[in-house]
Amino acid sequence: MNDMTIAVNEANPAGAENRPQPKQGVLDIAPYVPGKSKGSNGKTLHKLSSNETPLGTSKTVSAALSTVTGALELYPDGNASELRDAIGEVYGLNPDRIICGAGSDEILSMLANTYLGPGDEAIYCEHGFLVYEIAIRGAGATPVVAPEKDLTTDVDAILERVTPKTKMVFLANPNNPTGTYLPFAEVKRLHEGLPSNVLLVLDAAYGEYVRRNDYESGIELAATTENVVMTRTFSKIYGLANLRIGWGFGPAHIIDAMNRIRGPFNMSGVAIAAGAAAVRDRTFVADSVEHNEKWLPWVTEELEKLGLTVTPSVGNFVLVHFSDEDGKRATDADAYLLERGCVLRMVGNYGLPNAIRMTIGSEEANRTVVAHLKDFLAQA
Ligand SMILES: *Cc1c(COP(=O)(O)O)cnc(C)c1O
Repeated sequence: MNDMTIAVNEANPAGAENRPQPKQGVLDIAPYVPGKSKGSNGKTLHKLSSNETPLGTSKTVSAALSTVTGALELYPDGNASELRDAIGEVYGLNPDRIICGAGSDEILSMLANTYLGPGDEAIYCEHGFLVYEIAIRGAGATPVVAPEKDLTTDVDAILERVTPKTKMVFLANPNNPTGTYLPFAEVKRLHEGLPSNVLLVLDAAYGEYVRRNDYESGIELAATTENVVMTRTFSKIYGLANLRIGWGFGPAHIIDAMNRIRGPFNMSGVAIAAGAAAVRDRTFVADSVEHNEKWLPWVTEELEKLGLTVTPSVGNFVLVHFSDEDGKRATDADAYLLERGCVLRMVGNYGLPNAIRMTIGSEEANRTVVAHLKDFLAQA
């Protein structure tokens, strides 16, 4: 305990205006509230709050890690070449046009910090991922929110909000927390409607899970145009959320600009090695997709049988709506599940006060949550 520090602070009569001031926009950011990880009794049976996978991670990862942990005193490769090469090989992309970050969250803020400043506007959707607002405000720019239709991105609503100040549009496809997606034709229509100086960011964090013929994750536009970047993550289907690995793919001029502001060693050697091993294990990814293909429809149907409304999802999670208007029903259900060690996600801060988001978990987790919700609805 340092008594001196406290005395000095308390004795400072100058007040807040003489302290270092965050730049404009920073204090307008509502602190991000992560998904809970513990039930109300301190015990977690099933954590279904952050769209993590129930299948762990590829077995090839731990072998790859042991090659790094023998030399922790050395700086990692600042270019993350091993990881970019592995991603390029697997996805059929030029590694020179790939940039890696500490989660795709870092890629999103690098994009904002590279292209946005005070006076600029950036658009995202009504129930869009909260990190966009944080990235935009953190860059000192102004967020502009486009309303959605049926909990789905509305291309016209975005295009109507474009002004000469617009510099960027963020689109999660599929979106979190709604689970809905835009078909490729609509994404192309959005791109065609934007001025060529506006950067379109296609966040495909759940792209690997989608099984729809009319879906395209963003690779095609990012490969063939000058103003589209696609972002991806290792936190979801690859099961490496803890290591913070994400990447972006885009035109050379954008990757070059981002690399200039990127921290020179932003990826740890552990993350580089783990990501490179994980991305090459296509069997693991296929098994994860198969698990989701089985349990996403099962969870959806079982919850609908209980009388709940479930937004049709193409991701590894569902948005579940409760019937009361005041939002209390979702809060009560969440508390009921928490008491029983099942941790889901309230989404009031996404403008959805009477809904809960549930990650598709293991068979046991899915069955347990459905059984508890059945009891909850019966007792109420
Ligand atoms: C989970 C998620 C991400 C990934 O975040 P990381 O920083 O890579 O862990 C990005 N976008 C959306 C929409 C997400 O849900």
